[in-house]
Amino acid sequence: MILETEPVCKSKDTEETWQQSLAGAITDPKELFELLDLNLKHLPAAVQADKTFSLRVPRNFINRMVKGDWNDPLLKQFLPIAQEFDLQPGYTADPVGEKNTNPRPGLIHKYHGRVLLIVSGGCAINCRYCFRRHFPYAENNPGRQQWSSTLDYIANDSSISEVILSGGDPLAASNSLLSGLVQQIAAIPHVKTLRVHSRMPVLIPQRIDKECLHWLTSSRLNPVMVIHCNHANELNEATGTALSQLRNAGVTLLNQSVLLAGVNDDPTILRNLSERLFAFGVLPYYLHLLDKVQGAAHFDVEQDHASKIVAELIETLPGYLVPKLVKEQAGARSKTPISLY
Ligand SMILES: *Cc1c(COP(=O)(O)O)cnc(C)c1O
Ligand code: SF4
Repeated sequence: MILETEPVCKSKDTEETWQQSLAGAITDPKELFELLDLNLKHLPAAVQADKTFSLRVPRNFINRMVKGDWNDPLLKQFLPIAQEFDLQPGYTADPVGEKNTNPRPGLIHKYHGRVLLIVSGGCAINCRYCFRRHFPYAENNPGRQQWSSTLDYIANDSSISEVILSGGDPLAASNSLLSGLVQQIAAIPHVKTLRVHSRMPVLIPQRIDKECLHWLTSSRLNPVMVIHCNHANELNEATGTALSQLRNAGVTLLNQSVLLAGVNDDPTILRNLSERLFAFGVLPYYLHLLDKVQGAAHFDVEQDHASKIVAELIETLPGYLVPKLVKEQAGARSKTPISLY
């Protein structure tokens, strides 16, 4: 275990269904403050910021944190705070320019060979730095009929070899929806790879149930899952079990992180994260510079500083445990690599 302190309360990881964990997430700032013994002087700001993008965190995630610690690296990722109202030049509502690459409802085609499907607008957690915090999900939540026009788009472009289920968190959708969708994708001959971008194995590990493993691995598509984890404290025994099940079923496991000031902008923290991920069979993939989304400026790490952090990682880790430092640029044909020296 990474945490040396006692958990806040007994884990219910194994007792609750994933649907119960998802529905029972903490959304009331006051309840969060009480559960974690946080200083109530910050509550009014939390309530205010919650109105612009609501608080959401699963209860079992709370068990991985230290009570009363305002600087807990997990807390900072989802706690609404006053600094979100400090508007900074250059921070916008659509920093990665997705509204212009949205040819069908729920489909984003920005990069060669890959399309991204927005399967669910919801997430198990609301990350304060998320570039989708202002995305028009209501317009991008296709009903079953609209999926057929999206699937036609993929079928009519033979350059598309990979379909990425994304969101929100695609694993917030039901197994029956996902399994039906995957069958339809697998019926398009030029698609070879099925990728899932999800924070669920970390947040609500029991989401990786039998049915999920089945639709992921039973089609002819090559399955890849990219999880999202920013700090080693996010990974506990239950997440380890979920990840092993995915790996044993033949899913290639990768991780993406966002470089966040006050959370993981430190070579030792990132080294621990890479090593812990690898112990669970996951390789680091991307380390993203923050997307300049309104309300997240306090998370920003200067590009030069980011390069230095990763240069230090390279000195102490095998190459396969060093994530690629990248940023998203509106209009670019891929993620943009950041040079280190
Ligand atoms: C990141 C991203 C992808 C996947 O890019 P990879 O470099 O293959 O991981 C695809 N589509 C969109 C819109 C993306 O933002
Ligand atoms: S899409 Fe990812 S980063 Fe954004 S809120 Fe959901 S889990 Fe967090």
